[in-house]
Order: sequence, then C-alpha cells, then structure tokens
Amino acid sequence: MAINIELSKRVKDLPPYIFARIDKIKKNARDKGADIIDIGIGDPDMPTPKHIVEAMKVAVENPEHHRYPSYEGMWSYRVEVANWYKRRFNVTLDPATEVLSLIGSKEGIGHLPLAFVDDGDVVLCPSPGYPVYEIGTIFASGIPYLMPLKDENSFFPDFAAIPAAVLKRAKIMFLNYPNNPTSATCTEEDFKRAIELAFKYNIIICHDAAYTEMYYDGKRPISFMEMDGAKEVGLEVHSLSKTYNMTGWRIGFAVGNKDAVGGLGKVKTNLDSGVFQAIQETAITALNTDEAILEANRKIYQVRRDALYDGLSKIGIEVNKPKATFYMWAKVPAGFTSESFAMHLIEKAAIIVTPGNGFGVPGEGYIRFALTVGIERLQEAIERIKKVI
Ligand SMILES: *Cc1c(COP(=O)(O)O)cnc(C)c1O
Repeated sequence: MAINIELSKRVKDLPPYIFARIDKIKKNARDKGADIIDIGIGDPDMPTPKHIVEAMKVAVENPEHHRYPSYEGMWSYRVEVANWYKRRFNVTLDPATEVLSLIGSKEGIGHLPLAFVDDGDVVLCPSPGYPVYEIGTIFASGIPYLMPLKDENSFFPDFAAIPAAVLKRAKIMFLNYPNNPTSATCTEEDFKRAIELAFKYNIIICHDAAYTEMYYDGKRPISFMEMDGAKEVGLEVHSLSKTYNMTGWRIGFAVGNKDAVGGLGKVKTNLDSGVFQAIQETAITALNTDEAILEANRKIYQVRRDALYDGLSKIGIEVNKPKATFYMWAKVPAGFTSESFAMHLIEKAAIIVTPGNGFGVPGEGYIRFALTVGIERLQEAIERIKKVI
C-alpha cells in the first residue's frame, strides 16, 4: 500500500489552470468525432522558419553544446539580445549584467517573485492577465493584488484605484503590452505613470513584452525599456516564442535593471541549469531573421484579424479591433457568461475559445479568440457562430 501523498497547500489552493481544463473538454469533443475549430490557445499554427530549423541542425552537432550551459546564458546569446534591443528599440544594454537567458519567458515570470517577495508581500497583477503572474506570486508566498483592466480605461490599470496601503506593501508590478488577453496596446504616457508610481512606492516593474513583434498596420509597439527611468525601476521579459513561431523551443530572456535581472538570475542558478546551448546558438540566428519573413507572418495574421473582426461585427458580437497580438477579446452575447458561452460554442458549434474569466474575475463577460487557424477555418467559425447565437 502506498503512503499518503498529499499536495502542499499552495498547490491545492491553486485555481485550476484554465488551459488544462479546456484540453479535457476538447478531448471529449474530439472523441465524439466533432470537426473542431480550435481558436482557444495562443500557440502559433505556423512552423518555425526554415533557416532557424536548419541552424539548429548544425548547432546540435557541436559537442561543446552537449555540456551544461552557463546559468546566465552564453555570452554570444546575451550580446545578440543586446544588439537586437539596440536595433529594434534603440535601447542600450550591458550583456554582462543586464541580460539573462530564460527557458521561455513563462519561466522568468514564474520565478521572479521568489527573488523579491517575502511572506505576505503584495504583487500587483493585471487582471484579466497571463495566469503566471498570480501563480508565481502564490508560489513565493506573496499576495496577488489584482488590477482590473477595463475597456473604459483602454485596458490599462487604474493606479488611482489601488489603496496606498497596498502600494506600500507591493514589491513587484507586472504589466503586459501589447496585452494578452485583451490585445490592447498602451501609450508612453501609461508607462510614464507606472514608472512614477514605481519610484514613489519602490516597486519593481516587470514588463512582459512577448507580443511587441506581433503588430498590425505597420504600427510597431514600444518597449518598456525605451522609457526614461525604466532601467531604474525594472526589467522586461521577452521571448522568441510568438515572434518566430518557437513556442516549443523554450527560449526567452530578461533585460533591464541589473539588480532585478541579477536577483532573478540568483533564483535560476539554484533551480535550473540554463538553456540548451544549441538552442541559444540557434536563437542568435532567429534574432537576425530577415524582417521580410516576419512581415509576411504579420500579413497572414492581419488578414485573419480583418476577417474575424468583420465577421464577428457583422453577426453582432462586440469586439475591439486589435492593433497587436493574435488575440481578439470579444463581449459575450446577452444572457451568457464567459463560461456558458464558451461551453455553448464547443457543444453547439465545435469551436474552442477561451472564457475570459479564466484570466481572472475581471475577464468575466468576455471570451478570447486566438488567430491560430487559416482564413477558411475562421470564416467557417463565423458561419457556425452565426447559427448558434
Ligand atoms: C505566450 C506568452 C508568453 C511567452 O511565454 P514563453 O514562455 O516565452 O513561451 C509570455 N507572456 C504572455 C503574456 C504570453 O501570452
């Protein structure tokens, strides 16, 4: 007979990871033989560009890469990240102290609170938001304070609504623009207000920049690191996942304030052993990808965005037209909740979307579409939705 294996309180108390739950529902529908259109999860459907895959084939043959990597990342990778920031954002970074490799940005986000949060410290998390901000906080025995993102505030937190007592106990604030799940972008003015607040209350800002290269109409989003004072108050995590269709490769980076980046590095040194060097070397190739390839990708998403936006608008579903990201954040029709509408779409139309409340209570009343299927399938999805609302 086995011993009594009991989960820790911190794991037992976790909200169910929404994507795991949706996976189960999807599997049930698939087992029943449904022709499913899955526009639920934010995972690019297009493959990693060929020149990147080819670079990996060469890198993996090099025995130097078969040993433990350095914790903070290969020097050549960190230099290339700094070069990329210079080229793309005109931001200067010291690769020795201001750049750190990550096993995907999710890893960096999840580990960051362990470096700076003590029992009962507060972490300010946007909500709806990427669930890892909150979960990383809980794992570090911190207390997430949810900053609602509302349409009337252009999906940016209302700092004036946060009590001073909370701000005084806050150690970290997460921000994410272009935003998942709302697809909102923010302005320099917004970032400026965040930096002022960070100085006033001594809060580390961690900006999640996963979507800066997924934009429309030629309007390139800014990096938090471009702002005056950004390097004094925080860091930015970024990832090759969405930009280069490399979600499976697990490679990202953190840049910014050397003490913030260094603190995260300290946690990582004690928990993981860095990123497979062949992947880091390949990431150097990825960061030097011809803009024309990325532009072609963006065009594909833009055609999909336009089709889904026009189609949903025509059938009376209220949706903001994204300037960036491959998401669409839509209001559920009257009489539905996020959950009941998502279930309705799965059961009646074999369409998988993500219920907005899965990103936090303030996401109630919305669902999120991901533009991760081809145009014909999106059109088919619109036809099916039309029939069931
Ligand atoms: C997809 C995504 C990431 C990227 O995660 P990786 O671990 O780098 O694959 C980070 N933040 C947000 C908000 C995302 O949606």
